[in-house]
Amino acid sequence: MISGWGRYPRLPSEVVRPAPGSLPDAMSGGPVIARGAGRAYGDAAVSLRRTVQMDRHDRMLDFDAETGLLVAEAGVTLGQIIDAFLPRGWFPAVTPGTRFVTLGGAIAADVHGKNHHRDGAFRSCVAWLDLVGPDGTEQRCSSQQNADLFDWTLGGMGLTGIVTRAAIRLRRVESAWIAQKTIPCANLTDTMAAFEANADATYSVAWIDCLATGAARGRSLLMLGEHATAQQSKRRNPLATPKTDSKSVPFDLPGWALNGLTVKAFNAFYWRKGKSGPRQSLVDWQSFFYPLDAILGWNRIYGRKGFVQFQCALPLDTAQTGLEALLDEIAAARAGSFLAVLKRLGPGAGKFSFPMEGYTLALDFPVSDKVLALLERLDAITIAHGGRFYLAKDARMKAATLRAADPRADNLKRMRDEMGLSAGFRSAQSERLAL
Ligand SMILES: Cc1cc2nc3c(=O)[nH]c(=O)nc-3n(C[C@H](O)[C@H](O)[C@H](O)COP(=O)(O)OP(=O)(O)OC[C@H]3O[C@@H](n4cnc5c(N)ncnc54)[C@H](O)[C@@H]3O)c2cc1C
Repeated sequence: MISGWGRYPRLPSEVVRPAPGSLPDAMSGGPVIARGAGRAYGDAAVSLRRTVQMDRHDRMLDFDAETGLLVAEAGVTLGQIIDAFLPRGWFPAVTPGTRFVTLGGAIAADVHGKNHHRDGAFRSCVAWLDLVGPDGTEQRCSSQQNADLFDWTLGGMGLTGIVTRAAIRLRRVESAWIAQKTIPCANLTDTMAAFEANADATYSVAWIDCLATGAARGRSLLMLGEHATAQQSKRRNPLATPKTDSKSVPFDLPGWALNGLTVKAFNAFYWRKGKSGPRQSLVDWQSFFYPLDAILGWNRIYGRKGFVQFQCALPLDTAQTGLEALLDEIAAARAGSFLAVLKRLGPGAGKFSFPMEGYTLALDFPVSDKVLALLERLDAITIAHGGRFYLAKDARMKAATLRAADPRADNLKRMRDEMGLSAGFRSAQSERLAL
C-alpha cells in the first residue's frame, strides 16, 4: 500500500525501482506513473498498477560554474542540490516549501515558491529535460525542441512521460542567510495591501490565522525575504549552513489531538508571538524556506487517517471576495487548520501549470467526513470566483469539479489520447479526474 504525503488515500500498487538504463523494462506492460519523493499530498504519484520510483536516478552529471547550469538525474532532490552547491554560492532559483522534492517531481508539478510573483514557477529555471515516452524512447524537450511536449510536461503531473534528467539554472547567492522582514497585518484587506505594496520583495508569504473572524478575518504575518549579502550575514563563512536539529515525530498522534479549540488556541498564540517579535531579522535558509522540514515526518501529527490539503488560486479581480468567502466557510466549520498560507502569484505559463496571476491559499485539514464535505463547499466557492486547483495537493476532487474550474483539463486529455500517452501513463489521480 502506498500513499502521498497526506497518507490519504492509501492504495495498493506494485512499486518498482529501476536503475538508469532499465527504465524501458520497468515500463513494459504499463500503464505506469513516475514517483519522486512522494511529497505530493494525494494520489498523483501513486499508480493503481505499477509505480516507478525514481530514487536510483540520483546522480548530478554536470555543472557550469559560469552560468550556474546544473544537469542532474530526475531523482536528485533540491536538498541534495543545496548541500552540494550552496557552499559554492548557488541556490535553487525556485523552490517549494520543502527541500525533500525531486527534480522530476518539481518539473511535473511545475512547483512555485515564495518568489512566483517575481520569477515565475519552476519552469523558469528549466533549460531542458529528457522525457521517456510510452514506447521507452527518450526525447529532449525545451522551449526550442519538442516545445509542445515541454509545455505539457511542466505541470503535467507525470502524465506525459517519465523525466530522466534535466538541466536547471541555479541562482548565485553570497550567503546562506536571508534578511527577513515580518509585517503583522490586522485583516485580509491589510494583508493584500501589504503584498501589493511589497511586490518588489524577492520572496513573500503570509501565514494566515484562518479561524479569526469579524474585523480580524484574514489577520496574518507577512514574511518578506532577500538573500543576504556576505557582508550583511556578518559571518566569517557566509555560505556555511548553521547546524540545526531535525526532530522526528515518533508515532501517530491520536486524531482528537487536533480540533477546533486546540488549533484556534495555537493560531492565536502564533499570531500574538509574531506580532510582538522582531520586525527585521537574519534567518538561515532552512528556517526561511523550509520551516516544516525541521520536523521530519510531521505528516504523522495528523493521526492515522491522514490529512488533506486544499490549495486554490484565485484571479486578481476576484481574489479578495473569494478569499473572504473561503475564510468565512472555514471559520464557520471550525474544522481546524494549523497551516493557512497565502502567496501572491505572478502570471502563469505553460499548458497545464497551476499558477495564475492572483493569490493562492493553501490549508491542511485532518481527514474526516466533515472536512471532506467542507472541501466540496470550498471547491464551489473557488469555481464561483474563477479560480483553479493545485493537483499536487489534491487527493479527493471530482472530475467534474476540475472540468468546471479548468477547461485545460480536456485539452490535456485530448493531447494524451492523440499521442498515445493515456495507455502508458496513469496515476490514481488521473483516473479519478478522468485525465
Ligand atoms: C511540506 C510541503 C510543502 C510544499 N510546498 C509547496 C510549495 O510551496 N509550492 C509548490 O508548488 N508545491 C509545494 N509542495 C508540493 C510539492 O512541491 C510537489 O508535490 C512536488 O511535486 C513533490 O515532488 P516529489 O519529488 O515528492 O514528487 P512526487 O510526490 O513523488 O510526485 C509528484 C508528481 O510528479 C510526478 N513525477 C515525479 N517524478 C517524476 C519523473 N521523474 N518524471 C515524471 N513525473 C514525475 C508524479 O507522477 C506526480 O504526478 C509542498 C509539499 C510539502 C509536503
